Amino acid sequence: MDTSVSTRPTAAVLEGARGASVTEQDRLAASTDRSGYVSPSLPDGVVFAESADDVVAAVKLAAAHRAPLVPRGAGTGLAAGAAAKSGEVVLDVSRMDRILRIDPLEQLAVVQPGVLNADLNAAAAEHGLFYAPDPASTAICSIGGNVATNAGGMRCAKYGVTREAVLALQVVLADGRVLRTGRETIKGVTGYDLNALITGSEGTLGVVVEATLRLRPMPVATATVAAFFPDFATAAAAASAVIAARVQPSLLELIDGQTLEAIDMAMGTDYRSKGGAFMLAQTDGYGAYLEQDVLIEAIRPYASSFEKATDAEHANELITARREAIPSLEKLGRVSIGDIGVPRSKLADVAVGLDEISAATGVRIFSVVHASDGNLHPMLVLDPEDSVTEGPAKQALGEMFHLAKRLGGTLTGEHGVGILKRDWLLPELGEVSLDVQRTIKNALDPDGILNPGKGI
Ligand SMILES: Cc1cc2nc3c(=O)[nH]c(=O)nc-3n(C[C@H](O)[C@H](O)[C@H](O)COP(=O)(O)OP(=O)(O)OC[C@H]3O[C@@H](n4cnc5c(N)ncnc54)[C@H](O)[C@@H]3O)c2cc1C
Repeated sequence: MDTSVSTRPTAAVLEGARGASVTEQDRLAASTDRSGYVSPSLPDGVVFAESADDVVAAVKLAAAHRAPLVPRGAGTGLAAGAAAKSGEVVLDVSRMDRILRIDPLEQLAVVQPGVLNADLNAAAAEHGLFYAPDPASTAICSIGGNVATNAGGMRCAKYGVTREAVLALQVVLADGRVLRTGRETIKGVTGYDLNALITGSEGTLGVVVEATLRLRPMPVATATVAAFFPDFATAAAAASAVIAARVQPSLLELIDGQTLEAIDMAMGTDYRSKGGAFMLAQTDGYGAYLEQDVLIEAIRPYASSFEKATDAEHANELITARREAIPSLEKLGRVSIGDIGVPRSKLADVAVGLDEISAATGVRIFSVVHASDGNLHPMLVLDPEDSVTEGPAKQALGEMFHLAKRLGGTLTGEHGVGILKRDWLLPELGEVSLDVQRTIKNALDPDGILNPGKGI
C-alpha cells in the first residue's frame, strides 16, 4: 500500500483546518469502512471537526484549493462510501456528538451528526419515545451517516426508513454555505423536498451538521414470535404469506441456516438444530397480540415449529442473535454484503436464485432478510485476501443485481451505492435519471470536491 502523503491541493486544507491529523493510524482507519473494501492508498489526512463552524471552514478551504473531501461519520458503512484514498482529505464529524434538544411534546430531537443511533434512542426512551430507524449497527453508527445513506433497519417494516424520520437538516454545501432544509412541523410542502434530496446522497451533495428527527411514542405492548422452517425458500414463502394476510409487523426478519450456524458458533446459541431457516417477527401497539395471532396463522402451514417470547429478556436475546449476524460472519472471513430489494411476493424466488449464483460462482452466500421490505442481505464470505471488487465476488454481486432486476427489484435497499455498486447504476436508473442526478450534483458541487467517485 502507498502510504506517502501527496502534496497540494490537500496540503492547504490540512495546514489551515482545525483538528487536522496526518498520523498513519488516522489515515489507515479512514481508508476503509465495514464493507470489506480497503483503498489502494491512504488519504492525505483527516480533519476532525468539532463544530459546524469547523466544517464550514474546512469545506471553504477545500473549495478554494479544489481539494477532494470525504465526509465520514462512524465508518460502519457497507458500500465503501467513506473509504478515502491518496489525494483526498477526510472530514470526520464523529466528534460532533451532542444531542441538542429533545422535545417530548412535539416528539422530535435535534442532534449533531456524530450522535450514535443507540444513544439517541436511549435519550428518547427517557421521555417514553423512540427513534424508529434501527440499523443492526445501532450501537456503532452515527445519525449523520444514517441520513447520508438513508439507513434502514428492522423496525422500518412498520415505521419507515430514515427518510420518513427526517424533519429538517443543516447541511454545509460544497461552497461553504449552510443550507437549511425542511422544518419542525409534521407537514410542510413549501418548495422542493430538499430533505429527501440530501437523505441518501452519500456525502456527495453536502455535509450534514445537524438533523431534526421525528420521534415516536413507545408502543404499549410488543409481541415476539420466533419460527423455524425446513429451508430458506419455505421461510421466504411464509414471509410473503404474512404480508398477504394484511398484518403490519413492526419487525419481520429471516435468517438462513448457514448464517444460523455462524451465529451459534459465535454466540454459543443453538438455533440451527431447530431448523434450516429462522423467522423473527414482532407486532406492537394496542393490538399487538391480536396481530400476532393472525401472523401465526399465516406462517403455520410453513413452519416446523414456533415459540412465543416469554418476556422482554427472551425477545431481546432473539433480536441480539439477528443483530450479531454480520459480526458472526466476519469471524469466518472477509464479508461483502449485498443489499438487493425485490417485490415482497418474490422472496422465495430470490432464495432459489441465490443458491444458483453460489453454485455458479463458487462463492459462499449467507442471507439475512428484512422480509417486510423485500430487502435481502446476501453476504459473500470470502477468504481474507480475496478482493471484494474483482473476481468471483464481483461476479456474484453482479449476478445478484441482475437477479433482483429480473424480479422487478433494486441494487441497494439501504446501504447505498458507495464505490462497490457504481457499475450497475446505469442499468437500474436508465440514462435520463442518471443524467438528471449528475446535473443536480454539478449544480451543487461544480468542482466535484465532495466525495468524488462515490454514489452517482
Ligand atoms: C454490523 C453492521 C450492521 C449493519 N446493519 C445495517 C442495517 O440494518 N441497516 C442499514 O441501513 N445499514 C446497516 N449497516 C451499515 C451502516 O451502519 C449504515 O450505512 C450507517 O448509516 C452508516 O453510518 P456511519 O456513521 O458509520 O457512516 P459512514 O460509514 O462514516 O459513512 C457512510 C456514508 O455517509 C457519508 N456520511 C457520513 N456522515 C456524513 C455527514 N455527516 N454528512 C454527509 N455525509 C456523511 C459518508 O461519506 C459515506 O458515504 C450495518 C453495518 C454494520 C457494520
